[in-house]
Amino acid sequence: MRKLAILTSGGDSQGMNTAIRTVAKAAMNKGWEVYGIRRGYKGMLDDDIFKLSPLDVAGLTGKGGTKLLTARLPEFKYPEVRAKAAENLKKRGIDQLVVIGGDGSFHGAHYLYEEHGIKTVGIPGTIDNDIAGTEQTIGFDTTLNIVSDFISKVSDTAKSHERTMFVEVMGRNCGDIALFGGVAAAANGILIPEVEWKIEDIENIVKRRRANGKNYNIIVVAEGVGNTHEIAKELATRMPELDIRVSVIGHMQRGGAPSANDRLLATKLGIAAVDILDKGEQAGVMVGIDRNNVSVHKLSYAWENYSSKNNKDFYDIAMMLSV
Ligand code: ADP
Repeated sequence: MRKLAILTSGGDSQGMNTAIRTVAKAAMNKGWEVYGIRRGYKGMLDDDIFKLSPLDVAGLTGKGGTKLLTARLPEFKYPEVRAKAAENLKKRGIDQLVVIGGDGSFHGAHYLYEEHGIKTVGIPGTIDNDIAGTEQTIGFDTTLNIVSDFISKVSDTAKSHERTMFVEVMGRNCGDIALFGGVAAAANGILIPEVEWKIEDIENIVKRRRANGKNYNIIVVAEGVGNTHEIAKELATRMPELDIRVSVIGHMQRGGAPSANDRLLATKLGIAAVDILDKGEQAGVMVGIDRNNVSVHKLSYAWENYSSKNNKDFYDIAMMLSV
């Protein structure tokens, strides 16, 4: 009987549960035995691997978080650690593995295939949208909704009090959450790691908005840019007349029910992952979405082709709209 294991690894994202449920159901439907691994590669190393029943994956479609739990295991970069972990799959006769996670997790899946022949498929699950080979990662859309809703609410109070609010969002080294969330909520300034900026740029936006009669400002800062409190202080020194506040959204960006779009993305990609394994022609690959079609690339494509400067044109549009 064919055997497949599923794990989630690295940072959690909304829609990981939808992907788990889809992969498990699709594989069970083919008559395969399906296993869950708890806490990603840590559980693989600790032999925390268990057979999944249909009931285990029931009711997961709209649930935030990951039922399989997630963790980080930095030691997985050592070949001997990977060998020990791979052995725990092999001793059960499991030779297929679906890894739901970000580009770090994809590295691990890449090595498990190259070194141990485990047929791995990666499904991009991260709120950060920082993976090549897919237009969107699972969780990104839900996080955008949270961020744009948060910014809109902050805008209401900023307008009432005529304040300048800095809103810090997640994204690691990628500015997509800040850029797209900021545009969706009509932010006035957006600072992302991909685009150089100076404090004078924010000052100019504030002045131009003031000339238009607008005495409030929302500046979105991607966490990869630096310390938001320091940036706010710098502006306060240059423009002491402003009433400046800082708001850090924090971990609520990772939680809650996945959006319908993330559920559908996780479903499409989960089905594609099982189909690829079923055909048996490809492994060591990732699935992604490209103009509404599923795309398949080698896992290494995810990090080798990631260019964080793709969004410059859209950034210019965002700045034009900001005043
Ligand atoms: P994400 O998958 O969200 O990018 P991380 O970068 O933290 O999250 O990676 C998740 C896990 O993937 C790490 O804790 C580690 O176990 C594994 N991993 C990351 N980078 C590598 C690597 N270069 N080689 C092998 N395993 C890796």
